Amino acid sequence: MAATIQRYDTLIIGAGIAGCMAAYMLQKKGQKVLLVDRSAVPASGGSGAAGAFVSPKIGKGSALQTLTNEAYEYAKDFYVTHFPKHFLQTGVIRIPKDADDAKKFRLYEPFNESQYHRVSKEALEAMGIHNAEESFMFDEAGVCDAPAMCRAIFEHVPFEQFEVESLEEESGFWVVKGKEKCHYARHVVLATGYENRLLDMRYMGVRGTWGSRGDYYTSLKLEVSMHKSISVSANIDGVVKLGATHNKAKNPCVVCDGKPLKSLEEQASKMVNSSDFVLKETFCGMRSGSKDYFPLVGKVIDVPFMLETYPKILRGAKPPLKYRENLYVLNGLGGRGFVFAPLMAKSLAETIVEEKETEMKINPDRLFLKWCRKL
Ligand SMILES: Cc1cc2nc3c(=O)[nH]c(=O)nc-3n(C[C@H](O)[C@H](O)[C@H](O)COP(=O)(O)OP(=O)(O)OC[C@H]3O[C@@H](n4cnc5c(N)ncnc54)[C@H](O)[C@@H]3O)c2cc1C
Repeated sequence: MAATIQRYDTLIIGAGIAGCMAAYMLQKKGQKVLLVDRSAVPASGGSGAAGAFVSPKIGKGSALQTLTNEAYEYAKDFYVTHFPKHFLQTGVIRIPKDADDAKKFRLYEPFNESQYHRVSKEALEAMGIHNAEESFMFDEAGVCDAPAMCRAIFEHVPFEQFEVESLEEESGFWVVKGKEKCHYARHVVLATGYENRLLDMRYMGVRGTWGSRGDYYTSLKLEVSMHKSISVSANIDGVVKLGATHNKAKNPCVVCDGKPLKSLEEQASKMVNSSDFVLKETFCGMRSGSKDYFPLVGKVIDVPFMLETYPKILRGAKPPLKYRENLYVLNGLGGRGFVFAPLMAKSLAETIVEEKETEMKINPDRLFLKWCRKL
């Protein structure tokens, strides 16, 4: 007897923090969802490599800072409420890089929207933090255990392992095909990180930045996490996380040969007493960012249709946009996936279920016409 074809409200491709969170939010809204990934476990991509610090952005109040901090406020409350075991509110101290940077911190202060207080050089020294100027302490910030967080969210949603090879539209459904699998879903969410071989989505300008980081065994007493030029976590069960490098290289092996950790170790040794640090594990993964560093959340434009139907678009015409029906993206979370994912997934779920318009600052539409003019 032929197996019954399952039809889903939404099928989400990619089980990183973005996909796990999208599946979770959509299911909470009553949808029948299926999460798929080529890997059998969640967080096999960039999400598994993340140090997963969840802290606010400092600066002079740019639109990106405002959005990041809105996402930060939402994320920390979300994790504390729903997944407290995997988010430790260690506090995160933002330390100026040098005396010049310390002057900038004073200008940034009026734009610190999240709860914080100043910490003097002497207080930092007493905590075992060396060579530091007066800093900002964000008490409610902290660190996720990245794979454990993704696993915990993942446990709430149905999952199947397969590599999606094609997406086709058929009678109001998406047919999502892998080598030996085929599923039908009304909506599809692409949460595939820096990879996308399924559709022409070049206008979103997704690009990857490799990063390496390490976990170290240590007996160092360190109760708070910090960020200067690199991040150093609090000592959590005898382990401190150091992270991370940023490298545009395409070949991961070049970046993962162990040497980048040397620079992290050197920088850490100037911040804290790292004399007994012993490398436990190395992580390496790709961050996927957009052209303007804002996340990419919402509908996907039908690029071939637009270029064929409106050739004048290349010379600045602004025709109405046509979308691929019921196809969505959740990507471009850059170096702050664990900060952005909860709020961006909530927004996407509202777009899909309640047909709420996605705000333009995160909507990929913002990049389309500009991209066309450059073709
Ligand atoms: C070294 C490092 C340190 C970081 N530190 C932090 C930090 O401190 N704080 C923070 O918030 N963020 C941090 N990040 C960033 C964070 O990890 C990313 O923003 C986040 O992982 C992005 O998640 P994602 O779900 O979009 O992508 P990914 O985690 O890459 O997930 C994409 C998934 O899609 C799957 N996939 C792709 N194509 C297909 C297909 N065709 N079929 C099936 N499956 C497919 C892949 O297998 C993968 O599992 C760091 C990243 C790195 C690399």
